[in-house]
Amino acid sequence: MVNKLYLVTPRGFCAGVEMAIKALHWLLKIYDETIYCYHEIVHNKWIVKEFEKNNVVFVEDPKEIPEGAIVMLSAHGTAPEIELQFNNISSLTINSVCPLVTKVHHEAKKFSNENTQIIYVGHKNHDEAKGAIGVSPENMHLVESIEDVKALEIGNDVALLAQTTLALSEWEPIMKFSQERFNGLKMPRKSDLCYATTNRQEAILEILPEVNTVLVVGSENSSNTKALVSMVNNQGVEAYRVDNVNDIENLNLSGNIAITAGASAPDHLVYEIIDKIDPINLEQFRLKEEDEYFPLPQQLRSNIKNISDFLSILNISETNPKPENGINNDKKWTATEALNSL
Ligand code: SF4
Repeated sequence: MVNKLYLVTPRGFCAGVEMAIKALHWLLKIYDETIYCYHEIVHNKWIVKEFEKNNVVFVEDPKEIPEGAIVMLSAHGTAPEIELQFNNISSLTINSVCPLVTKVHHEAKKFSNENTQIIYVGHKNHDEAKGAIGVSPENMHLVESIEDVKALEIGNDVALLAQTTLALSEWEPIMKFSQERFNGLKMPRKSDLCYATTNRQEAILEILPEVNTVLVVGSENSSNTKALVSMVNNQGVEAYRVDNVNDIENLNLSGNIAITAGASAPDHLVYEIIDKIDPINLEQFRLKEEDEYFPLPQQLRSNIKNISDFLSILNISETNPKPENGINNDKKWTATEALNSL
């Protein structure tokens, strides 16, 4: 029997995930045809399935799309060469990359233009790492460990960048070792680890002394979800990643537990798990509020506006988005509402 369950905030959708889900939803609403999405729009099984049920096809290669297709590029960022290939085949390609990933791409471009070698701390097969390395493959070196840094022979003009969704405990030791190894190591003023990643990790660390188990809701390929689990395990506390309520069937949960969710996990999955656990006490644990908002991709906004204007000229009111659901109110509208309206 679970005595107390702490529901941790912040958890779940970050501003980048909110934006990408809403952007894909808009594409589905305004074009009555299959939308091709490069990589999973965000790394969550449930969300991917929902979009698949609604005429989205996820692809891993530009060659998989037909000539003239409409394409969305995922939140994790796309290598410029791949984006170009999509642009050449599609009739429209919208890039829903998170602005915080774009920031890392810009840093990579800047250092690479200065002929600086770049160490990129990330996970080899992760979409975000593949996209970032694609900015300047000849100058960038992907590392996952201190051993990888030791093996580099790249001179002394070196910069350090990182995947946005790493655990602090994954990034910090590599950063410190690199600073010792390379004199004058260049780094962005602010760490590349994003606000959502660090906020979710800090919140769990804060509640950790009160609990014996942590549940992290999120999918297997979600980097920030796995970072939460490994960070809790590193502190000597039991942590389980669960995709949905079925995954807790075989867990022997008792005592005090905390529940959080990675940045791409929908909140209804969290509540289904809470209902199933049915704790004696449910307590909110709120470390901080997040109010970050990322606007929809600029190209999508102008497309929607043009189409809305066109429809209003023709006075096709039933297909014209209602003012309260229109593009100008995007900030007040959530990805959860977008998913519910698919
Ligand atoms: Fe952007 Fe961070 Fe969310 Fe990734 S986890 S989409 S970098 S805000």
